[in-house]
Formats: sequence, structure tokens, C-alpha cells
Amino acid sequence: SFGDTEAQREVRENDRQYVFHSWSAQGAINPLPIAKGEGVRFWDYDGTEYLDFSSQLVNLNLGHQHPGLVKAIQDQAGRLATIQPAMANDVRGELAKRIVEHSFEGARSVFFTNGGADAVEYAVRMARHHTGRQKVLARYRSYHGSTSTAITLTGEPRRWANGTLDAGVVHFHGPYPYRSVFYSETPEQETERALAHLRATIELEGPATIAAIILESVTGTNGILIPTPGYLAGVRALCDEFGILLIADEVMAGFGRTGHWFAFQAFDVHPDLVTFAKGVNSGYVPLGGVVISEAVHQTFDQKPFPGGLTYSGHPLGAAAGVATFDIFEDEGILERVRDLGERVVGPRLREIAEKHPSVGEVRGTGLFWAIELVKDPDTREPLIPFNAAGEAAAPFNAVVAACKQAGLWPFAAGNRLQVAPPLIISEEDLVKGLDIIDEALNVADGYVGE
Ligand code: PLP
Repeated sequence: SFGDTEAQREVRENDRQYVFHSWSAQGAINPLPIAKGEGVRFWDYDGTEYLDFSSQLVNLNLGHQHPGLVKAIQDQAGRLATIQPAMANDVRGELAKRIVEHSFEGARSVFFTNGGADAVEYAVRMARHHTGRQKVLARYRSYHGSTSTAITLTGEPRRWANGTLDAGVVHFHGPYPYRSVFYSETPEQETERALAHLRATIELEGPATIAAIILESVTGTNGILIPTPGYLAGVRALCDEFGILLIADEVMAGFGRTGHWFAFQAFDVHPDLVTFAKGVNSGYVPLGGVVISEAVHQTFDQKPFPGGLTYSGHPLGAAAGVATFDIFEDEGILERVRDLGERVVGPRLREIAEKHPSVGEVRGTGLFWAIELVKDPDTREPLIPFNAAGEAAAPFNAVVAACKQAGLWPFAAGNRLQVAPPLIISEEDLVKGLDIIDEALNVADGYVGE
């Protein structure tokens, strides 16, 4: 309970002594002990309350302790807590059916994984077996997970220290009008030039060697990069021309984040494979997977698929996934995400951009937005250098600290504050969080022109 310093001390001590944390120098971190979570909020042991604008790791789409999710897991645990994947299970089949029905034209089946990285691993493995080709093209400014192939596909600094663990991976640039590598002046030009660059990459790598192109339909952690008009359709057309599979990584953008079941649905594009995880059951039980097209499914109709996982389609995760579909429909989640994005977040962030010289650009859709901070709005010099750490990152860290001080837990990445609250957030809480960000940006303004 709050104020219980003994309990808090024990949580902290066990953590520091025994828990090895992700992406961290173990001696340089001090993880915050959490006592409780409810809806869009969580609390530390001192009773300090945080409004969660990052949905934990952009997975807690239905918020903490949603009664429908908790009940589905409790009921399933009482019925059948686990069963191995070679057997047929009711909730596993029901969830696969609902995902297929809500994904894309030509979708046939689902292979379940434990999370996002392994979904990416399996999608690539399927594409390689299906096409008989080895190479996979992935974009810079992307994150696809931290296992061997997934981290190699990743197009940002988290790959660097891990080296190239999959020799078949080739990177290319996608559209990013605010920092165009194509010197584009309009979104349309950006599309045209990004597609020309991709075509050249395919031709130079050799179309007959390329199994798949993987991309986040809307890039998440690397900046909420929304495809410019016609870009995804153009990538699809290149894939069709050269017999390459299109893998949409929907691990972060999927399950309502953009106001659609899957983010690609706003662009009228049909991928061949779709990876998902996070929002499928708000991370209450680890679960991910790959949605597979009829054509890829047929490749493995008579020939065995060489791969599997003990927990593929775990009933507790699947039951929470089925409940997610019910809750989305009962609570009109997709409609409210689109409404809140268009009516509340977009207009307010554009106002914030006008007011604060440190805001270079705001962009986003649904409940998935980025505020890109700059030191100089004219030259677009970022508030902190790319991949800055330590003292060099101090100006940005000061903005993040101001948010936390005011009770908001932001999603911070590079030189961006990103807005990704649970999709059940009330309009009042959304405004409250945006007010805190508005105020915290005064700290960033202090560095402009320095
Ligand atoms: N793909 C995308 C787009 C992601 O955002 C993430 C995680 O943030 C992953 C894959 C990896 O998922 P996981 O952390 O569940 O392995």
C-alpha cells in the first residue's frame, strides 16, 4: 500500500540485486517501484500518480485492470490455463478467426508467437520459404524487435551494438518530409522520390534475391512517420512487379492505435504478411503473431512449416485477445480514437506548435502523435543531436523531467515527445496531459537559439 516504505524498499532491493533490465547499464539505473495501476494511471509506493501518455510501451491500449480483460483471463484460467499448440483450442481458434476477418483481403490464417520480435522472425522465415529468396529490405528509422533477424532489420541505433546477425538484410530510406533525404518540397515529391529510391535499391540488390520488404505501416518509436500520399500503394506495386512479399509490421500501430484495426487499412493496401503483438490483448499476457495470406498459407499446405513455439496461441493470451475484440466493439474504441485524434489532439498540438518555438513539427493520427523538438526552427537543428546521451541529451531530459514532475509519464524518443495514451482515455484526461506537455515545452523553448 502507499507509504509502505518497507515494501517499497524490498521491491527496489530485489530489483537492483536480481533483475537484469533491458537496454540498460545495470549499475546506472534506478527503476521506479510501482504499487498500482488503474485505467490510464499508475502510482508509485509514495502515492505519486502518473497519467500514462505512453501506454507503458505503447501496448496498454485498454488501460490497466480493464474488467473485461481481467475477467476473460480469470475465466480461462479456471477452464483451461494452458494447452500445447499441436492441439486445437477454442479461444485460440476464435481469436485467429477474428484477426483474419479484421485484417486484409486475402488473409487466411494466423501463426501465434509470444511477442513482436518473434512475429517478425517468423514472418521473414515464411517469406523466405515461400519465395525461395534470402534478402529482406527494411527501412532506416524503424524498430522491428531485438532478436537476431528483427534487430538486424531495425534501422536505428539499437542495431548498432548488435551488429549484423542476419546477412540478408538491406536498408533503404522511407518518406520523412520534415527531414527529407530526397530534398523534396512537397509530400507528393517525397512519395515519388522515395519510390524511385526503393526501385533503384531493388534493382541494384537483384529482384530475384529479395524475399520481402518489411515496414511499419506507420512508424512508431522512430517518429510517428505517416506514409506520404500514395507511398504504401507504390511499395505494394513494386512488390507485385518483382514478386516480393510485403510485410506490414503492425506491432505498435495495430489494434486501434491509429483508429483502425490495422494502420495499413487507412491506405487501402493489402500486405502479404502482418505482424502484430502489444495491443492484441494490451500486454496482459504475452502474445503476438503473423497474419498469413492465402498464397503463403498454401506454400505450407503439404510441406511442413519448419518452426514453432511451446506457447504458440497460449489460451490465457488468446482469451484476452478475444475479449479485446468484444471490448473494442462494445466501447466503440476505433471511432473514439479517430474522434479524439481529429477533434482534440491534432488541433491542440498544432496550437502548441504555433506557440512554442522549440516545436519543429507535430504529426500523427488517432492516438499516435509526435512532437519533434528543435533548437532552431529555421534550420530544423534537433533540440539534441541524433542518438545523444549524457550531457548532450540534457535539454531533452529536462523537458521529460518537467512532464514527470507535473504527473505525466511521456513517451520520449530521440528529440521527440510522443503522445500515445491508452485508447480508453477520457477527453478530460487527454486535455489534462496535453496541458502538462504545453507547460513543459517552456523548458524546451529556453534552449532555442542558445
Ligand atoms: N515491431 C515494432 C513496430 C515494435 O514497435 C516493437 C516493439 O516495440 C517490436 C516489433 C518488437 O516487439 P516485442 O518487444 O514484443 O518483441
